Amino acid sequence: MFYNEIMVKSVLSGLSLEELKALFSPLPPFRAKQVYRWIIRGTRSFFDMTDLPRDLQEELDFRFMLYSSQVSSRLADPDGTVKLRITLRDGAKIEGVLLVDGGGRRTACLSTQAGCPMACAFCKTGALGFLRNLDSGEIIEQFFHIQTAGTGTGNGPVDGPEIANIVIMGMGEPLLNLTELRRALGIFTDPEGLGFSKRRITVSTSGVIPGILDLADHGPKVRLAVSLTTADEDLRKRLMPATMTHPLPRLREALLYYQQKTGCRVTLEVVLLGGINTRRRDMDALADFAEGLDVVVNLIPWNPVEGLEFEGRPLGRPTVREIEEFSEGMTRRRLGVTRRRGKGLGVSGACGQLGESFTV
Ligand code: SAH
Ligand code: SF4
Repeated sequence: MFYNEIMVKSVLSGLSLEELKALFSPLPPFRAKQVYRWIIRGTRSFFDMTDLPRDLQEELDFRFMLYSSQVSSRLADPDGTVKLRITLRDGAKIEGVLLVDGGGRRTACLSTQAGCPMACAFCKTGALGFLRNLDSGEIIEQFFHIQTAGTGTGNGPVDGPEIANIVIMGMGEPLLNLTELRRALGIFTDPEGLGFSKRRITVSTSGVIPGILDLADHGPKVRLAVSLTTADEDLRKRLMPATMTHPLPRLREALLYYQQKTGCRVTLEVVLLGGINTRRRDMDALADFAEGLDVVVNLIPWNPVEGLEFEGRPLGRPTVREIEEFSEGMTRRRLGVTRRRGKGLGVSGACGQLGESFTV
């Protein structure tokens, strides 16, 4: 009995089918398969696994946990965005976001770290500092919470259309947590798991070169987005201080290598900061950087985060004119350009607005 009280139960949500089989041994492998099937359908209790005998449900419930996190609050924006605050087993808090586009298609935006060590000047998560990496289960559980977030609390049954896309663009730098991210992506894309097409998953990085090379060499071949922000090296280092060790010429080489290996187009994300990175020289530098690469530029008008400053001046949104001019400047330089709308602004669930102080 005492043993039971101090036992830390293993969590099953982030395990592959092979790992489950090994964990359940000497039970026959088909039992692991049954449980895996239930897990990927978002089942929250062993007692809902109706094809398992009662004594096995009880034993599994005694030995294991299906989930390690829970939704602690839900904020819904009239534009359909829902931001979930999720509390992890150790009390750390992260956020996951459900985005709904004009056609009603649903996208899950997932975090990979509690906080972020990259300290970008324009990002709320960066201002929090870094707490820890998430494990694969904590990444996958966000998906299940988001799947049930549309109308419910984020703890209930699936309550809307299937999620069509996954974007790894929440809190944290994914390529600094590639091992656990890769495990999670393995389950998302497993034909026996969630069966996601790799083309429907986008990983966004601030430009961590070893991670890009690793992805190029070992996959998975998901879509890659790089938060360039500016291709003016001096300004970039000031805005994104941790990119100091990932200089632009080497980042460009890494992207060339990535494209040679994968043949995939890369998105360059540019957060437009009013009066800062919207100059003609930013446009020129971007065009130089993109020369010879197969890229599309995604413009993201900066979403306000209270209290953030850059070199003593408060940051501001770009004007409509700045956005238009930058967009036209890209087209004139023969670069494909897309624009991201500020989804979820009403609940601080838009890009760069994620995070609250940690209470561990
Ligand atoms: N750490 C990864 C992924 C999470 S950030 C990365 O940086 O790519 C996801 C996107 O939000 C990045 O493109 C980032 O540049 C952008 N972003 C950060 N703060 C923002 C803000 N306040 N407004 C708009 N976009 C922001
Ligand atoms: Fe981290 Fe991305 Fe925010 Fe930079 S923009 S601090 S890399 S989450």
